[in-house]
Order: sequence, then structure tokens, then C-alpha cells
Amino acid sequence: MTLSTELDCQACGACCSYSSEWPRFTTESDADLDLLPAHFVWADQTGMRCDGERCSALSGTVGSYVSCMVYDIRPDVCRACLPGDEACLTARAAYGLM
Ligand code: SF4
Ligand code: SF4
Repeated sequence: MTLSTELDCQACGACCSYSSEWPRFTTESDADLDLLPAHFVWADQTGMRCDGERCSALSGTVGSYVSCMVYDIRPDVCRACLPGDEACLTARAAYGLM
């Protein structure tokens, strides 16, 4: 796997808009989850709430300019997603971002 330092997440957002099943909470503590605004989280506390395939905490336009409204307290799976990894490239390809 070759990670890229050239991909600009703030001009992308594809991985935040790729699946209604993602991001799911994994290793977060209850204290960490309590920090997330409730309207961004599924009622059953399994993950970030999505609007369609797009995480509700993503603002902006995918492929143009985006930001994460909970960046400092984002879930662990979001921290683990790195520009240029397999999941990144799959999500980008779905949006025609190569
Ligand atoms: S798909 Fe890749 S480049 Fe785009 S926001 Fe996610 S990690 Fe960053
Ligand atoms: S919490 Fe932030 S980084 Fe994670 S999917 Fe949502 S918008 Fe993207």
C-alpha cells in the first residue's frame, strides 16, 4: 500500500460519503461518544448518522471543498482512514476522483 501525501482531504470527502453503513463506532469509549452532538449520531449509538450515503457531519461539496464538523472528536475509524489507502482510493474512484 502506498499512502499519498498529495491527496487533499479538504478537497475530497469521498470516504465520508460512500456508505450509509459508515462510519460505525468501534473502539470509542462512552465518554468519547458523549462528546458527539446527538443529531449526528444514530439513535442506537452504532455510528454516525448518514443522510443517504453521506455522513451527516460532513459539510461542503464532495470533490470540491468539505470539512468535518466534528473533526477533533471524530470516530476512530475516521482517524484510521488515510489518504491513498485502499478504502480511500475506492471511495474516490466512486466519485470519479482519481
Ligand atoms: S477519500 Fe481519501 S482523500 Fe478523500 S477525504 Fe477520504 S482519505 Fe481524504
Ligand atoms: S465524522 Fe467526519 S471524518 Fe468521519 S465520516 Fe463523518 S464527516 Fe467524515
